[in-house]
Amino acid sequence: MALAVRSHTAWIPGSAVRGVICVSSIVRRAQLWAVTLALFQVSSVSADTPIGASDGDNWANYGRAHDEAHYSPLADINTANVSRLALAWWFDIPGVVLAESVPLEVNGTLYFATGYSVVRAVDATTGRLLWAYDPQVPRVAGHKLRLLWGIRGIAFWNDKIYVGTHDGRLIAIDAKTGKPVWSVATNERPDDFRIVTGPPCAFDGRIVIGHASSEFGPAPGYVSIRGYVTAYDAENGRRLWRFFTVPGNPAKGFETKAMEMAAKTWSGKWWKDGGGGTVWNAITYDPELHHVYIGTSNGTPADAKLRSPGGGDNLFLASIVALDADSGRYLWHYQLNPAETWDFDATNDIELANLVIDGRSRRVLMQASKNGFFYVIDRDSGKLLSAEKFAKVTWAERIDLNTGRPVETAFARDPSAYMRIWPSGDGAHSWTSMAFNPTRNLVYIPVLDSSRECNDDHIDLHGKECMGTAALLAWDPIQQHAIWRVALPGVRSGGAVTTAGNLVFQGRSDGRFVAYAADSGKELWSFDAQVGIAGAPITYKVAGKQYVSVLAGYGGGGAIVDPRWDARTQPRRVLTFALGGGAQLPPPPPRHEVVPVADPQFEPNPNIEKKGQESFIGHCAMCHGFDAIAGGQAPDLRESPIILSAKGFDEIVKRGMLRQYGMPRFEELSDTELETIRQYLRSRALDLAVHNTSAKRTE
Ligand code: CA
Repeated sequence: MALAVRSHTAWIPGSAVRGVICVSSIVRRAQLWAVTLALFQVSSVSADTPIGASDGDNWANYGRAHDEAHYSPLADINTANVSRLALAWWFDIPGVVLAESVPLEVNGTLYFATGYSVVRAVDATTGRLLWAYDPQVPRVAGHKLRLLWGIRGIAFWNDKIYVGTHDGRLIAIDAKTGKPVWSVATNERPDDFRIVTGPPCAFDGRIVIGHASSEFGPAPGYVSIRGYVTAYDAENGRRLWRFFTVPGNPAKGFETKAMEMAAKTWSGKWWKDGGGGTVWNAITYDPELHHVYIGTSNGTPADAKLRSPGGGDNLFLASIVALDADSGRYLWHYQLNPAETWDFDATNDIELANLVIDGRSRRVLMQASKNGFFYVIDRDSGKLLSAEKFAKVTWAERIDLNTGRPVETAFARDPSAYMRIWPSGDGAHSWTSMAFNPTRNLVYIPVLDSSRECNDDHIDLHGKECMGTAALLAWDPIQQHAIWRVALPGVRSGGAVTTAGNLVFQGRSDGRFVAYAADSGKELWSFDAQVGIAGAPITYKVAGKQYVSVLAGYGGGGAIVDPRWDARTQPRRVLTFALGGGAQLPPPPPRHEVVPVADPQFEPNPNIEKKGQESFIGHCAMCHGFDAIAGGQAPDLRESPIILSAKGFDEIVKRGMLRQYGMPRFEELSDTELETIRQYLRSRALDLAVHNTSAKRTE
């Protein structure tokens, strides 16, 4: 099985300051309701969705309840009967789009977003389309189309759906009709590179939203950015507060005391390159303490030495920050990676629980971070309670619980070494959700063990990350050790959901949707989804019947993904299951094989090829894949006849002929550079043809 080694890091040609394109990303959600504590000696925060009460009928928030635990109290489907779970209906999602978001279900309607922030509502019991809303992103996103990441979630509050669009708008949609109610630009300026791909966080009549793009600067054509989150009034979009995650130019004055404090941890002229620290995924509302927790990304530039040449921790990069939910005022922070330099965003799910630790009940938040450590932090104070490795980690020995700081390995920043660092920038765990089951006190983490080669600049000159292994890991957050582990193909799989029925559901990169026993990890049921799954499922109840829904489809923004799921031919569906369901998918399409374009006249030129490869990595690889091996979100260009036509290639790449389908323009490419890219692609097609021929001979 030919699974690809995918690019995560790329040189931007012509950039005076070496910038890194790291590809991974995103934001979040919730509501106010009953806070039921201590149902169990150790219980989750039982804040529930505003209309679902505590019975779990609705899944109106990204992680269901405010705790973001991706846990359902429903148990009609359980270990005893899950073998009878079957497909109830499916919905075919049109277009060549990423379909990997978490849907919502409210009072019998299922809402989901795909591709460029297109939202649909369907009947949750039949899959019948009720409405679709398309914010027309390709028409307005301009160069942001170059940052192809797709959407990962939406929010619900008071009969409205909230979606952050790729171009940076926050839009409220009438949940009944699909008509837009209001729209605001969350960007500072329309041409900055803030894009939104994660779910907004909804609570208490407010919507909090962040953005992505710390990866894209400084480089020609990219406007570097400062990270922030903004709170809006859920009813009218009025801006309530904004919290910047990194300090701006001191000469302009600091917005807050927190920024003044943070500025002391930076050096040089950091503000010129934006600083980064975007909040692209985790935003969690804590109804017990009325806090908002945000997880921040790496810095801009990614390399600490370039970003802050005189050293410093660089607050609040790679941090979890607690804010007052009313004012956005800074309360506390915990920085996971001081002077972060390996793309270890602290943006993974922040999930809330109440755990008994050393005989004392603690209000905690938990994160299985990209850097490979599982963190348990006191929510009242921000104090780190424990942190242990849940995956292979070589950049640090351990986390010092007295100082809260990592004890980095000697070689992790060795300027003379060229070393392999675990985990890679794809993260030991990333945005695919983990799930916490309060009845078992276990967390279920989709783990990816991968590594990246780094040099002095902590940038991979070859642009390669290497796959390792992947797993679904059951983790005890109190004892900080693994309980069980199910091996998965060594690429990214989907997020997890766990239920009171002692079940864990996960969609996998290999196209299987599986139910495991939550206590033992025993596989109890599976379904052939016909395509890899990257999103997380949800479960809900309509008219007394429990359903499980998941988006099936596979791609993934330059991440370590399975290239078997071809962008053009893979099915993209909402799959919904119930006990005794009677639906059946049509037969799967034949497994896609890349057939390289035949070009007998072509004679490769190694010099041109090398230049073309550099340009390709800088401009194209994010979507079309490292080494031009695509990974499900854009066509594999080795089989595209367009690479045989200089004119056609020019019309699409430089003139934007396919922009309405999401293919961005690269008008700045010179004719020579464009041609080297085309020649590189023809070489890659030839390489594949030669490989296929020799493989046939050895059969
Ligand atoms: Ca990052």
